[in-house]
Amino acid sequence: MGLRFYNTLTRSVDEFVPLRPGEVGLYTCGPTVYDFAHIGNFRTYLWEDLLRRHLEFRGHRVTQVMNLTDVDDKTIAGALRQGVRLDDYTRTFIDAFFEDLDTLGIQRAAVYPQATQHVDEMVRLILRLREKGCLYESKGSIYFRIETFPAYGRLSGLDPGSAEAARARVEADEYDKDNPRDFAVWKMRRGDEPAWTTEVGDGRPGWHLECSAMSMKYLGETFDIHTGGVDNIFPHHENEIAQSEGATGKPFVRHWLHAAHLIVDGEKMSKSKGNFYTLRDLMARGYHPRPIRYLLLSAHYRKQLNFTFEGLAQACSALDRLDDLAYRLEHESLADGENPGLSAAADRARDAMLESLDNDLNTAAALGHLFDLVREANSALDAGAAKRQDAQRVRDVLGAFESIFGVRLGAEATLEAEVASLVDRRQKARAARDWATADSIRDELQKRGIVLEDTPQGVRWKRRGT
Ligand SMILES: [Zn+2]
Repeated sequence: MGLRFYNTLTRSVDEFVPLRPGEVGLYTCGPTVYDFAHIGNFRTYLWEDLLRRHLEFRGHRVTQVMNLTDVDDKTIAGALRQGVRLDDYTRTFIDAFFEDLDTLGIQRAAVYPQATQHVDEMVRLILRLREKGCLYESKGSIYFRIETFPAYGRLSGLDPGSAEAARARVEADEYDKDNPRDFAVWKMRRGDEPAWTTEVGDGRPGWHLECSAMSMKYLGETFDIHTGGVDNIFPHHENEIAQSEGATGKPFVRHWLHAAHLIVDGEKMSKSKGNFYTLRDLMARGYHPRPIRYLLLSAHYRKQLNFTFEGLAQACSALDRLDDLAYRLEHESLADGENPGLSAAADRARDAMLESLDNDLNTAAALGHLFDLVREANSALDAGAAKRQDAQRVRDVLGAFESIFGVRLGAEATLEAEVASLVDRRQKARAARDWATADSIRDELQKRGIVLEDTPQGVRWKRRGT
């Protein structure tokens, strides 16, 4: 069987067939850049990274687009609070977001369109929807009239008039609608908020509109996969479908995939409970990105993930076991030839791991198969029964894990983590003007053959002689 994913739209696990063979258009809803992203956000971004890596591993070329929401109530409020321009305010968080992506080894999307750079596209979409009779104006703002789109509610299965739907909807600043179910595509200028003077009026776009306009600009009017967290299903993705299909009359997205929430210590993450973590918070506590990445990918994406520090410690020991096997395979002296039993175990594990991922990205099952092989390979090595050829087969399975999970194994990965931590400690010592500690760390690194270079972008390190 080939690739198949649970499709929120059909409520079934559907075979995945891209529109154009070998090419996949993937739209992933991105961050609102008013704060640092938290680990719940990163659970979704990491799963999307794994989705893309697995599609690529299976031979598809993926064009990923992720939007940056840089104008909405939260970004505007943040900029006003700090008394800075909106783009200066959001730049800080956009830069931080990219730094965090790199820290976690998340591959860059093909394009990160910003809402403020695509107001023209959004205005054109409003004009198309107006032409189709889907919109009405009230006191300078423009609303989508849901009754013009009978399929509304198909994705979420929610009756848009229900109390549940009303609770899920964020409508703090949506006023003067004919019907409480309708949503704004354009908001009239208020006070000194950032605004654009356009053919449809003086104001700013509604949030939902950016994802319709920007996904269709970069991926076409119908594309393969659209993802997000479950909290995006209603109203955000429901509204995207109404806007896009209302304007084009074509199916918008073929496969809708949504990741479940992350909770911390069994509870919803919240700043007031003190269980709210950004990636930076975890790094400041001395955790390396590799186990964070591993932990956030280890549960199936449609199951709630309970983040605990104990779980993070378990992720560290799981990685230690994988590193240890990678080290043994590389360094133990093995006889030429093949142990057919271990070769067969490697092939079985590889097939089962990939089959689990093909089956709606079941990472938990895939890791189970990988660790079955770790046990078998370690016993064979302990018994002196492993030979060169089967050891290579086992290493290849670890290689498939590295590509798809985006986690590097072995001595090099460990060295990188250690050096990164020493460099970080030296930076902190320097910031505290503790020159003695800073110098002793530099000496320690030099003993290991690592040379530091201070550059305007920060500290870089390299191996001596490279
Ligand atoms: Zn979106």
